Amino acid sequence: SMYLMNDRFVKDDEVTISIEDRGYYFGDGVYEVIRVYGGVMFTAEEHIGRLYESAEKIRMTLPYGQEEMIDNLSRLVTDNGVKEGHVYIQATRGAAPRVHQFPGEAITPVITAYTKSYPDDAPAAEPAKLKSVADIRWLRCDIKSLNLLANVMAKQEAYEAGCYEALLHRDSTVTEGSSSNLFGVKDGVIHTHPVSNFILNGITRRVIMQCCEELGQPVQEEPMSLEDVYSMDEFFLSSTTNGILPVSEIDGRRIGDGRPGPVTEKLMEAFEAKLPEPVAT
Ligand code: PMP
Repeated sequence: SMYLMNDRFVKDDEVTISIEDRGYYFGDGVYEVIRVYGGVMFTAEEHIGRLYESAEKIRMTLPYGQEEMIDNLSRLVTDNGVKEGHVYIQATRGAAPRVHQFPGEAITPVITAYTKSYPDDAPAAEPAKLKSVADIRWLRCDIKSLNLLANVMAKQEAYEAGCYEALLHRDSTVTEGSSSNLFGVKDGVIHTHPVSNFILNGITRRVIMQCCEELGQPVQEEPMSLEDVYSMDEFFLSSTTNGILPVSEIDGRRIGDGRPGPVTEKLMEAFEAKLPEPVAT
């Protein structure tokens, strides 16, 4: 399959990345993952919009515009024959001798993208178990930065405890997952952390909020406490790759009866109704 490298489509043995790339040295860059359903990218404008926002927040100017970026990614999806899968795109500040301060104007960002196709026989996801892990990330979690060390450590801690995802908390305030947003349901009301510098403003979260509005489903954008989450009637996480994923257990404590609850199921249905119609082949 082909890769996007800056504005060129190349085979894997033609990808040339410098050992001095600032992504490699510093994690100095930003990225996005866009889900492909039935051969069509879902919410591509929102993802690419956020990519450019993240770039701007780290004072990085991407060498071409959002429309061209989306065109390049759709071409990659089509050429690679992706039906169910995703596109990953990242942009680093470029390659230059290692000093922390930005390189000069002559150094331009390095963009790379690849696609991943999911197997046809992928089983439906089981409800997830979560493990609470202290959120030790920096204070700009609104930026989708390549610096994911704290997220990696948190996810690994969850995996080693037999869990699918970490439930991150700053003191007793629950923020988000290591690669997802989190939602609890109590007495018919959805609770989730407000959009701030402490979480990534997830694109899936935005779609869920839209569904809630359309369904008249009440949402309270107030942080949950660690104590609150254990007694939620329902719990779910959201991300581009998982969509809406019900949660059955947090720190070994069962949520509801461990099966997806009525509010979660209603939202999953509303979410699915928003997915693109498969393109005819
Ligand atoms: N928070 C974090 C820290 C993430 O890495 C992700 C997934 N990239 C999300 C939330 C969910 O965001 P989205 O729905 O845009 O994938």
